[in-house]
Parts: sequence; structure tokens; C-alpha cells
Amino acid sequence: MPKQYIVIALVVLSFAFFLWTVQRFIRVMKKGRPFPGSFGEKGARFGDVLLYFFMQRSVAREPLSWHHLLIFWGFLVITVGTAEILATGVFGSALSYSNLFGSGIDRAFKAVLDVTNGVVLLIICYSFFRRIVIRPRLIPLSTDATLILSMIAFLCISHFGMHGFEAAAALGSQAPQAIGHMPISAWVAGLGVGGSTGHTLAEANYWIHLVIVLFFLNYIPYSKHIHLLGALPNIALRGRDKRAVGMLPKLDLEDENDWGVGRYEQFHWKSLLDTYACTECARCSNNCPANLTDKPLSPMKLIHDVRDEMLERGKLLLKLRDGVDPTGENENATEPNDAEKVVIEELGKMEPLVGGRIKDETLWACTTCGACENACPVFIEHPLKIIQMRTHLVLSEGRMPAELARMFRGMENNQNPWGIGADQRMAWAEGRELPLLSDNKDAEYLVWIGCAGAFDDRAQKVTHAWLDLLDQAGVKYAVLGDEESCTGDAARRAGNEFLFQMLAEQNVETLNGYGVKKILTSCPHCFHSLSKEYPAFGGNYEVQHHSQFLQQLVATGQLKPQRNSAKAITFHDPCYLGRWNDEFDAPRELLHRASGSAPIEMERTRGKSFCCGAGGAQMWMEEEGPRVNVNRTTEAVNTGAETIATACPFCNIMITDGVKSLDKDEDVRVLDIAEVLAESLGIQRATAKEAEATN
Ligand code: SF4
Ligand code: SF4
Repeated sequence: MPKQYIVIALVVLSFAFFLWTVQRFIRVMKKGRPFPGSFGEKGARFGDVLLYFFMQRSVAREPLSWHHLLIFWGFLVITVGTAEILATGVFGSALSYSNLFGSGIDRAFKAVLDVTNGVVLLIICYSFFRRIVIRPRLIPLSTDATLILSMIAFLCISHFGMHGFEAAAALGSQAPQAIGHMPISAWVAGLGVGGSTGHTLAEANYWIHLVIVLFFLNYIPYSKHIHLLGALPNIALRGRDKRAVGMLPKLDLEDENDWGVGRYEQFHWKSLLDTYACTECARCSNNCPANLTDKPLSPMKLIHDVRDEMLERGKLLLKLRDGVDPTGENENATEPNDAEKVVIEELGKMEPLVGGRIKDETLWACTTCGACENACPVFIEHPLKIIQMRTHLVLSEGRMPAELARMFRGMENNQNPWGIGADQRMAWAEGRELPLLSDNKDAEYLVWIGCAGAFDDRAQKVTHAWLDLLDQAGVKYAVLGDEESCTGDAARRAGNEFLFQMLAEQNVETLNGYGVKKILTSCPHCFHSLSKEYPAFGGNYEVQHHSQFLQQLVATGQLKPQRNSAKAITFHDPCYLGRWNDEFDAPRELLHRASGSAPIEMERTRGKSFCCGAGGAQMWMEEEGPRVNVNRTTEAVNTGAETIATACPFCNIMITDGVKSLDKDEDVRVLDIAEVLAESLGIQRATAKEAEATN
């Protein structure tokens, strides 16, 4: 049989099997719910693909990522070379690059291809050395990785053999010169193996090359390299709206099927596409505060668990006709036939996704800090998935830690997570004349105090300092007083969407009733809920965090700090101000103006800041093992700063506790940025002095 027919048969069979696999993977993914968003901004999405897939921007920013980048870019060049081999093998030499583009371009490309194969081969040898001898943390050499790297190495070697021996067989001693633009293949051609032996070796290398390429193509979807297929569409379809970052979608509580995610098909399909995109780089887990303090949560493993569940369960779901309901919950579903009843029985025997493949304690360990999502080079959204599965646990299964049940009760009965009597909400303001909105309906700003600012002793001092600053600047503001309720952030992130919606609707009704337009708050969690999540409930306000507002007051000269702080300051970025709301500069500029010098940066700072351990309702849960707040406080203390500044009442509580745990409360104080500014302005009441005493 002529060689061309064998090549055609192999290529057709391989591509047919590959396409069959891909369409199955897509159908399994499409069992997910419809994606609620849209995919506009096509030009920007194209740019994202160029930047984040082809240029590997996120990876390129990491130190020591050069070997990954060179292998990736090299692999792209090798793929272009492989395309020519497949095209000429099937259609003949008419599709060779020299015929298509001219010999000049062909020679230039072959030169690049040859050198690229050499570089990639060297890096793979280094990768084996690194993984076997150096053994970096969290990147063990798996069988899969060994196979993939070996296949790429043999692709490179067979490239040299194919071109070198072919030239030697055809041109004899002239060969090295004739293919001199391909330096490594020319070296092979100069080995003196010409004639029929050279021809046989060239053919052998050709077939090795072809078989590896076709096997690789079909191995990709079943290996960790499935990301070669999933990453590009996931990057192209990523959420591009910065205002929506970290925003949870409003659930339809009338529809029980919308009560979070208990089965993989309750995720929307874009969320499932995420799981095909994972490169197993472990950046998420290496940045996860839960994972780094020995909690039973690895965001990377969680993504793989969702993917494995999808592939296993989805395989069975594909055996059911459209309209057949595997859960038996839909009364209007099509009656299953006998074969489908067997499939449904098999589905029923599978371990559940939530509580089985993914344990409850894994989900409860998350602080919703977003470090995983921020670190992920292919834009996978881990926290949303975790919160959706928590919602299933709370709303559908009624399973949650006892501390959370207590917190929910407090929020339900007294509108605050501590459960302190609602009539005590204004106790902190005793002795202070506060303008209430009910008496000052024309106040320009509503100051949202927040539950921490009202009920926590330490945060109350921050509230005083922050309001003192507003008074000094002559800002016309008012507060809701007893009419304010918890925003519900902690309830929502702990999975209690019912409670969150109840509180959100109540607050929106109050705020809209007064016609509130502008809100100021010192709590990043309230800031996040009020600005990003309340619009879904009809609450549309211009919300500013106190770091932003105070920075403006200083910039416009309404507040004039004296730069009288001689103490070195470091700043801890709150997750819900920095990562989720992209505000890193305002608190730093404020501290700079207030203290006279820029804050000392911790190693994990800005987008890579390490969580204090309070978010996602962790503030009210028991923590076992090494503590997240102690980890972060140790880093802050190690900067040598005498003041750790924060811009969140919960961070303040956690880091104050961390300083005490480290027995550093004599040397280091924890202040809110408002207290630092008040100190710089010489405002003494209930602020820095008392805070020092408290610390
Ligand atoms: S949100 Fe934070 S705690 Fe949760 S998985 Fe991601 S990195 Fe870990
Ligand atoms: S950071 Fe993203 S790509 Fe890397 S392992 Fe985690 S989920 Fe996968």
C-alpha cells in the first residue's frame, strides 16, 4: 500500500476519534445550566487570547517561569512544523511550505523550527533534572507529565532524524551544507549515515514523528494537557466586567433547582469549562490561606474533583434522552425506558459531589479571599463554585457548622452576626451627637456604620475616629441609626442566600425610602455588598470606602495631616477592598500623607496579599491547626514596622489577635487607616491612644 494511503488512514482515524472525544466532552459540559452572562467585547477577547494564551502573560510575570514559557512557545512552533508534515502526508508536496510560501520563507521557518526543537529538547532534559533531582514543592513528576514530556522530547529527536538522515540519503556529503540553515539537522546529516541506511532511518523517524503526533492528539483530552484545549476558550470567554468581579449572582429562591450546586450539572456550563482549562500549575493552592495553614482545602484539587465528577456522571447522563430527569424531581419529565432506568440506578449509586467527592469541611475552610482566582493564569473562578456548593449544603441539605447556625440566628433575630440585641446597635454612640438620617434627610452622604463598627469594641473606636475626621472636614453626613441592619455579606458567603436576600431587601427598602444616593463605609464587606450586590435588589448607590473618601479629603486639602508619626507603618490589604474591588492605592497614599513616608510593603502585598482569615464567615467559625491570622501577622511583624495599618474592621480584629498571639502587643500596634490619619491630625478622642491601650 503506498505510504500516502497509510498516512491518510492514520490521520483520518486519529482526527475522527479526536473529534468524537471533543464533542462528548462538550456535550457533558453543556449538561450544565445556561450561562447567565454574555460574551461581548469580541476585540478585547481576541486581545486576551493573544496576551494570556499565546504570550502567557500571567505565567511570564512569575519568577522562574522561563522553562515553562520556552516549552509552550516552542511547542507552538513545532505544531506549525507538524501541520506541514500532516498536510504533505495527506495531500502531497503541493502543500509544502516551500510551495505555498516560497523557498525563502520556508528556509527561514525551517531554521527557526530546527533551533526551537533543540531548545525544547534541552529544556525538557532540564525539566526532568529539576523534577527528579531538585523536586520543587507541589509539582511532583507524575506519570502523565513524564509521558507528555517524553513524547515532546521524541518529537524533537525524530524531527532531527527525519530531516538529517533524509538529506544525507539524498545528497551524501553535500547534505550538511545543503541544509546548513537547520544547524542541528545538518549535524545529524554530517554523521555519515547516508544511502539506504540513511533513507531507512529517515523513514523510521518520519513514522515515529507521525505516530507520536497522532497519539498525542488523542491523549490530550484524557490527560492533564486537556488544558491545551480548554484554556484558550476559557480565556476568550472570561468575565471582562471589572465591576462584576467577586459579585455573587442573585438566586431565584422560588426555584429549588437554583439553591446552589449539589450536582455538577447545576453549575452553569462556563463554570464547567473552567475545569477543562486547569493547567495544574498549583498557583491557586500555593496562594490559598486555607491550604497554606493545613486546612483540608486545595483549590486545585477542588477544580479537578468537579472535572472528574463531570466526566464520570456526564458519561452516564449522555445515555439518557433529553427530557428524562435523572433525579426524579421533575413531575413533567419524560418517563425513562428500561435501559434508562438502569442508568438512573447507576447514577443513584454514585457518591454525591457535595459531601462525597468534595467534603463539607473542604468547603467550610474557604475564606473567600480570592487569592486562588487572582493567581490562576487561565481565569478559573474557584470561590464562586465553593460558595455555590455551600449554598446547597445550607439551603438544600441543612448541613453547616454549629457556629454558623448561631451566626445565622443572630442575623435573623437581631440583624447582626454576633446576635447582640438589635436595640444595642447605637450603644457605641452614647455621648456622641450623631446626625440621624430621619432628622437630616438632605444630608449628602449616608455613613454606613456596619455591624462590626457598631457592635465590636475595637471597631467602635475606628468608627469614632472616622466620624471625627468627617466632622473635622465639615462633611454633611447622617447615619441610619437603629434602622441599619447587617448587609448580609457573611450569610451569603456562608451559603444562606435566603437570609442574605431578606436583609438586602430590608436595607434597600430603608435606603430607597430616604432616597439615599451616596454611601460611605469603613467596612470593605459592606462596601462590596452595597456597591456590587445590592443593585440586583433595586439598590443603586454611589458607594465609597473610607480609604477612598479620606484620601480625597486629604488630596483636596480638607484634611491636612501633619506627618507627625515617627512610627514605621506596614499596610495589610483587605481582600474585599484590594483583590475584589481593585483598591490598592487609596489607603497607601493616605498612609503616606499621614505618616510622611510610604508604608513598608510585605512580601505578599496588593493582589497577592494574604488573607487575615476572617472572610467568608470564618470570623465566626472555629479554626483548627495553624491559624491564618497568625501567619499573616508574622509576616507583618517581620517587616519591622511598629504600626500595622488595616482598612477593614475584621482584618483589624484578626491582626490584633495575631499580634497578641505572637506576644508582640507591647511593640506593635494595629490601627485602622482612619486612626493613623486622626493621629496625624492630632485628633485624640477614642482613637489612637485608646487603640494603643486596647492593643
Ligand atoms: S478563596 Fe481563598 S481560601 Fe478560598 S480557596 Fe481561594 S484562596 Fe483558598
Ligand atoms: S491556578 Fe488555575 S490553572 Fe493553576 S492549578 Fe489552580 S486552577 Fe489550575
